[in-house]
Amino acid sequence: MLARTSAIQPSPALLTEIARLLSSERTLVARMSNLFELLREALWYDDARLISWLDGAGNLRESFAPPLRLPLAWEDELTEQTARQRVARRVTLATPTANTNGLVATAELTVLSVPVVWGDALYGVIELRAAGAQAFSSADQSFLAAVLPLLAAAIATEGEQMPAKTLVVRPSELTVRQQHTLTEFQLDLEDPLALNDLLERVLHWALETTGAEAGAISLVDHERSELSMQVFEGFAREPFSRDVYGEARRRWSWNSGLSGKAAREGRALLLRDLVNAGEFTAALPEIRAELAVPIGDAGRALAVLTLDSPRSAAFGERELAFVQAIAQGALLPLKRALGYQNSLETSMQLGQVFSSITSGLALMDNQGKLLRHNTAWLHIWNLEPEDIGEAFHMPWDLVTRLLARLTDPLKLSEFCAEGQAQPTEVFQETMLLRDPHQELHVLSTPTRDSLSQLTGRLWVVSDVTRERESDRLKSEFISIVSHELRTPLTSILGYTELMLAREFKPAEQREFVKTVYDQANHLSQIVEDLLGVSRLEAGSVRLNQWVVSLRQLISELIAQLNTHISNRHRVVIDVPQRMTPAYLDRDKIKQVLVNLVTNAIKYSPKGGEVVLRVQEQPTLPADHPPGEFLLVSISDQGMGIPHEDIPRIWERFYRVDNSNTRRIGGTGLGLSITKALVELHNGRIWVESTVGKGSTFFFTVPAATEQMRPV
Ligand code: ADP
Repeated sequence: MLARTSAIQPSPALLTEIARLLSSERTLVARMSNLFELLREALWYDDARLISWLDGAGNLRESFAPPLRLPLAWEDELTEQTARQRVARRVTLATPTANTNGLVATAELTVLSVPVVWGDALYGVIELRAAGAQAFSSADQSFLAAVLPLLAAAIATEGEQMPAKTLVVRPSELTVRQQHTLTEFQLDLEDPLALNDLLERVLHWALETTGAEAGAISLVDHERSELSMQVFEGFAREPFSRDVYGEARRRWSWNSGLSGKAAREGRALLLRDLVNAGEFTAALPEIRAELAVPIGDAGRALAVLTLDSPRSAAFGERELAFVQAIAQGALLPLKRALGYQNSLETSMQLGQVFSSITSGLALMDNQGKLLRHNTAWLHIWNLEPEDIGEAFHMPWDLVTRLLARLTDPLKLSEFCAEGQAQPTEVFQETMLLRDPHQELHVLSTPTRDSLSQLTGRLWVVSDVTRERESDRLKSEFISIVSHELRTPLTSILGYTELMLAREFKPAEQREFVKTVYDQANHLSQIVEDLLGVSRLEAGSVRLNQWVVSLRQLISELIAQLNTHISNRHRVVIDVPQRMTPAYLDRDKIKQVLVNLVTNAIKYSPKGGEVVLRVQEQPTLPADHPPGEFLLVSISDQGMGIPHEDIPRIWERFYRVDNSNTRRIGGTGLGLSITKALVELHNGRIWVESTVGKGSTFFFTVPAATEQMRPV
């Protein structure tokens, strides 16, 4: 604590200053807080308060007090005595205090309690107190006595309307200066402003004109009973917390805080001595006074303007009235800005939907000029943003960029022409692209403006390749089950029925049983393939790799296949005598070879040579995985595969569609299984083929390195 002697002697200049202060136009609350500051320069004290007058029933009405310094409550009894007897008194009291050991000791406290009397009337009691027994000399007391008439006059002119602790504000008269300020404020808001710019300006005006240190404006969400803080100013720290993502928690229930109550009730509220306020807690601990004024009409708040101050007496009735006038002036501009903000949000939301949707969207005008498109639209057509120049017109610009990939460029042009010829109709079409194969569903629907006038078209483009593929797979599967399984089953049933019906010669019987056996084998192969595909798809196939001689594997295979090879075919084996062994799963690679050799025979019905070749240290395709590999090739002189089917023969159930393959029959599973098995070995498979001349299938298997070979 500072030494008492540091207080300067009361001077006439100080008295003049106090006189000027007390007669100024500011509210009593504001004047009182300054008065206490000035008084501290003259008389040293720790705490001060003014209990402003007693009402007719003799009760205390209102008190003004800066935050307490001493940890002691005021003695109301003494105050009442002073008021009753209208006599100033200086008393020294012994008060209990806790010393450093936590033991209770007594300390002395001097209280100066002075009635504010003017003429015959009592206007209140002013009290000062200080620790110790020496405070408040008689000079101090006479200085205070000189202030009393001025104070009484200030209270008297304030009238009977003293603000209650939390009070509902009634608009009061504005001074000429305030009215002038208000006009300036309204002029400032005349320009159409974006919501936050407007709120920032309103808040700034409110802070400037009331002298409040900090403030905020929140919007009221009646549907959710919440407030959301839009702007704030003057706080040393953010007046809200942040969540785990670092996002500001700007929304809260209107059931908490003074601004919440003002929003709920649609009326202005003031709170002073916020520490003692019970129901309300301030956003930041240093706040002592808070004023919340709704901006709205008919008791319905659109926003709440909140002003805060660390001075508990910062806001008086005049400030309240003025802030209310500001709130009223801000109402129309706020409504306008909210409307604008609403349409902005709607278009933002639509923009977000537009850009995040996975379908390609493109908006074009009546002439087919592209106005807007999303990234999915570019992505689906495999275009880059730079492909879309200043003026991109449908269909020409799209056709030129996609010419190499469109299977039918005319279809796209006609689709656009139809749209322009019948602008009110909805059209849809499937477009096929190649390299890679893509099936696109394009929906074109007319767009209209707010007056229902046609403005152009919206295209919704969806990539349906996968859906169509799974549809195709499903129907292929059904047709395979019904055809491929039914054929062997019919002959099994036919022959067994025949044998049951009557006796046959042993030679005939043997012939029938052989046919039944072959057909059952075929059936089992199909079922095996179907199971094989699902196992490969599920990723549950594991390799059992060994160092194996390919030469030996191939000769075993040919012996096994011999019965299938007709005399129209000649199978040539071209494998070096001595060769690096391979590192592979015998059964799996045997299955690969069986598939490829039987296909070579199957798809060369006119006969010819089938060459099975193995090359060491081959030149591998550029995208082949690194390492040492052996290259196996199977060539035939059969029907060959059309160029456009080559990428697709590896797909499940895919069969080249022509009369030959239909006659030959098959499930379309063999090559997809083959490819998966080769790739499990980290090898690759590909084909070179010329229609009418033949095909060569190539695949690679890993060569056994030194470490793998048996010693
Ligand atoms: P499947 O032979 O049961 O139809 P695959 O998956 O083995 O099924 O082959 C898929 C398609 O590839 C065949 O339907 C056929 O059209 C074509 N194909 C496969 N091998 C050859 C070949 N060596 N010559 C011509 N076409 C072939």
